[in-house]
Amino acid sequence: MVRSRLPARHNPGWESRSVPGVGENWLLTGTSRALATHSRRDCGRKWDGKLKFQRELPQRRVVYKLPTSKKLASKPSKAKVPRLTYATLKVTPEDDRAYDHAVEKTRASLSNHFAMYVNGERWVGTGEETPHMSPVDTTVAVSYFPRGTREDAKAAIDAARDASGKWSEEPYRNRVKILRKAADLLIDHRYSISAWMAWEVGKNRAESLAEVNEAAELIRYYCDQIEENKGYTHRMESPGPNQTTYSVLRPYGVWAVIAPWNFPIALATGMTAAALLGGNTVVFKPSSESRVVGYELTRAYADAGIPRGVFNLVTGPGATVGAELQENQKVDGLVFTGSLAVGLGLYHTFAKSYPKPVITEMGGKNPAIVTGKAKIDEAAEGVVRAAFGFGGQKCSACSRVYVEKTVKEKFMTALSDYVKKLVVVGEPTRKETFLGPLINQASIDTYLQAAEEAKRDGGTLTGGTRLKNEPLEKGYFVEPAVVDNLPLNHRLFKDELFVPFLAVGTIESLDEGLRLANETEYGLCAGIYSHDKAELGKFFENIQAGVIYTNRRAGATTGAWPGVNSFGGWKGSGSTGKNGLGLYYVPQFMHEQSRWIVGK
Ligand code: NAD
Repeated sequence: MVRSRLPARHNPGWESRSVPGVGENWLLTGTSRALATHSRRDCGRKWDGKLKFQRELPQRRVVYKLPTSKKLASKPSKAKVPRLTYATLKVTPEDDRAYDHAVEKTRASLSNHFAMYVNGERWVGTGEETPHMSPVDTTVAVSYFPRGTREDAKAAIDAARDASGKWSEEPYRNRVKILRKAADLLIDHRYSISAWMAWEVGKNRAESLAEVNEAAELIRYYCDQIEENKGYTHRMESPGPNQTTYSVLRPYGVWAVIAPWNFPIALATGMTAAALLGGNTVVFKPSSESRVVGYELTRAYADAGIPRGVFNLVTGPGATVGAELQENQKVDGLVFTGSLAVGLGLYHTFAKSYPKPVITEMGGKNPAIVTGKAKIDEAAEGVVRAAFGFGGQKCSACSRVYVEKTVKEKFMTALSDYVKKLVVVGEPTRKETFLGPLINQASIDTYLQAAEEAKRDGGTLTGGTRLKNEPLEKGYFVEPAVVDNLPLNHRLFKDELFVPFLAVGTIESLDEGLRLANETEYGLCAGIYSHDKAELGKFFENIQAGVIYTNRRAGATTGAWPGVNSFGGWKGSGSTGKNGLGLYYVPQFMHEQSRWIVGK
């Protein structure tokens, strides 16, 4: 195990400033161009003088205590969050300027070297470093991170266990203060986090700015929930004179949090914040595709004053870090967001010796239904936004649409018009870009394979090719694809592809649309376009999905927001039936203790 000789706690380098009163800055600097050409041997622990810490750190040990309330934000600062959501996607000129500036600053930090974060310390571990190449330009390494091993994960779990008692005993109000501060920090750094999202996962500016706002709002909403429920301590009916009874929700202990790459800040924040607010300590594993953003979240927590050991970051693959997190008996709860295949595996293996909570949010194959009673323009725009927003790489993306025969031709014309008008493909950092690159070569393969099958099986395909024109030739860029006239039982109507590929089916009636919509292992999101109340009622009663929308122009199946529109799946899309972003999420991270007290 290689431990850093850095101080006990330090903050991994916000781009412009350190938060007053908390910690130092650990961002490595060095010319990224030069770094990009270094061999792997030159990277990582064998720093050679070309890299240096941005600020010389004093070699002293700092033991961090819970900050006092004076140091923390005294009030929720809701007003600080701009109302840029997935529905509005409204980027102001001020946002544009700040984002463009952040793009240039983060560009200069590409190919930097990062560490994990365990027990309040920088943690290098024993594994090799691995680069992550940008989907925007696959010749550029976004970052180098340690490839965490089982030993690293064990160290993080031990640290989380040691920190668990004190954190669980803290009054919930103290935890809320720290978490609210973290939300403020995410907002303060929203432009740089968004720019990192462009380099790491190819998300465009409006969507990534909205996502950082969502992350902060998630924390604030969950804080509100805890406060409204007084820390989930409720007095029950008295059983008799001089006796009181309480229902109290108590933390489980240590939670493993395993996150996907596609909403790298919002989902990681939502899961970790809920666990922390519930009084648990956390070992967080981000996806290997979105490690810098995971690191930015770690910094927000560290700078907000999370005590050592309470939040730990371990980077690495599912095969090592992920395996340890699911098998280690010292982990009390597991929350995962990702694919059905991985989530189902975790669901079955996590609780081996006795029942333990496991929350898995998984994939989707989200349908929209367009009936003869729809406003076609509204439907076409909503479907295009949901199918091609972030390249179909949202769990909520609309990947199939069933259209009643009577309005099919009109719908296809409007759909094609909206694809041409809205779906500008380009580098995600550019203002006009709607569709950035796909995440990796595997997604490109999935996309090309789908196009191949669509043509082979008699479909009418628009799009379906990889873009190789300047300046996109080094990235994973594709056209938006729409296939019509495939048999309705074709696998392209059933399998989650997670690429910008929309299958269109013709139906005779709403009943047929509902039957087809439900004929899938998933049950995440669904949308309908109809202005007939009876049709909407039938849809509500019969659709098998955790999140449903009607007549939504901003997105047929997408756009959930904390406290506004909760988000979670049925069937193969989710294991608990309780949605994130909503009323019933946080209590899942606690177990109930019923207390009967005799005497005063
Ligand atoms: P993924 O399942 O491949 O990976 C998710 C996380 O699990 C990553 O951190 C990965 O490293 C880790 N992992 C992989 N194998 C593991 C193992 N054996 N043990 C432990 N951890 C392991 O998913 P992804 O590609 O990152 O994300 C895309 C998927 O996530 C899609 O299916 C999408 O629909 C789904 N998703 C669902 C929601 C939701 O809220 N329901 C939200 C976002 C994404």
